[in-house]
Amino acid sequence: RETEERYIAANPLSRARQDAAARSMPGGNTRSVLYYSPFPVAIAQAQAQTLIDIDGHRYVDFLGEYTAGLYGHSHPVIMEAIAQAAKGGIVFGGPNRDEVELARLMCERFPSLDLVRFTNSGTESNLMALVTARAHTGRSHIMVMEGAYHGGVLTYFYGADFPINAPFPVVMAKINDVEGTRALIGDNADKLAAILIEPMIGSGGGIAATRDYLAMLREAATRHGIVLIFDEVMTSRMSSGGLQKKLGITPDMTTFGKYLGGGMTFGAFGGKHALMRRYDPAQPDAWPHAGTFNNNVLTMAAGVAGLSKVFTPEAADRLYDDGERLRARLNETGRKHGVPLQATGVGSIVVVHWQSTPVAQPHDTQKTPVEARALFHLNMLQRGYYIARRGFMALSLALTQSDHDGLVAAVDDYCGAYRSVL
Ligand code: PLP
Repeated sequence: RETEERYIAANPLSRARQDAAARSMPGGNTRSVLYYSPFPVAIAQAQAQTLIDIDGHRYVDFLGEYTAGLYGHSHPVIMEAIAQAAKGGIVFGGPNRDEVELARLMCERFPSLDLVRFTNSGTESNLMALVTARAHTGRSHIMVMEGAYHGGVLTYFYGADFPINAPFPVVMAKINDVEGTRALIGDNADKLAAILIEPMIGSGGGIAATRDYLAMLREAATRHGIVLIFDEVMTSRMSSGGLQKKLGITPDMTTFGKYLGGGMTFGAFGGKHALMRRYDPAQPDAWPHAGTFNNNVLTMAAGVAGLSKVFTPEAADRLYDDGERLRARLNETGRKHGVPLQATGVGSIVVVHWQSTPVAQPHDTQKTPVEARALFHLNMLQRGYYIARRGFMALSLALTQSDHDGLVAAVDDYCGAYRSVL
């Protein structure tokens, strides 16, 4: 309560903005994930790894726009690419040059991509991949993991008694339950069009699929003619070719979003030639896939600049290692203080939970009390570190060693101050 009162007093302009916003947006919000109680700070400006809110506080940005902010804010190479592209006009109603290059770069990097198509979001990409799998197989159902998030209309959280955001009939599996899932696939093989999985569940708590589990899915999908789809919207950052390349398991299709558009609105789906060829409009049996902004000029230019000039394979490996080190340091800090801090995730996605029981399934994260999440989150904001209420962090290339050291010191200080209540 005291922390919350201090927060309210320190953020009068954000509070007023929230009140004004609530008059024309439900709860003052247009992105559910950006709300937290008592109200979120509103951001006025961002540069590299720094965010400044409308009350003038500065934060080191460890949220990294839920992975879309991989390049840091306003990276000069990307800003230049956008500025140059904008000079030539932003909507043509025709094909452009940069889409060719972005498609080429992605097909070169991601092992599962023979062919790729662009969309405007990760949500749309998953919808398109699922539609493709259903049309290709003539089957109706999709298998998803309990607690998975694949987009605004593809949300498989617990406790949703009426799935307004689950448009296809689903069979729910438990991530890393090799035998149980194998049996479920066998029992439902004749109706399963696709298996959709994030190789590391991001929003659901930073839970990595084991290599054995993914290998079982690969084998079962092939055996039963089911399309295996990896949602790499978040995990495509884990190497130059995503987690699929790092783990050496190639799905039939992959979906993308977030940083690959250089920070602009982005999505893509792609995969094997046999699945994607039907989107060739010259084919007599072509499937349609329109979308006014699919090849939008600014995204294509920003994406090309980012992949070709900034996020090199070496940069990808470095960022992965930075995340591994940070997670280890945070866990060590918790151990040192004897508090139930648990940092999960893979590579540059780090999720902090306040519980000593394992986080093996997304619903396990509910064992962290909401008050514990709120206390940590508000304290980190007050110490100048911007993370998500749920403890989610995604590193950007703009963060420095001293930013990492500062975050660890802030967590250390927090653990020391609140040890008795954690
Ligand atoms: N898939 C995963 C794994 C995601 O984390 C997200 C967004 O957070 C999406 C899909 C949806 O992407 P978008 O927000 O671009 O629609």
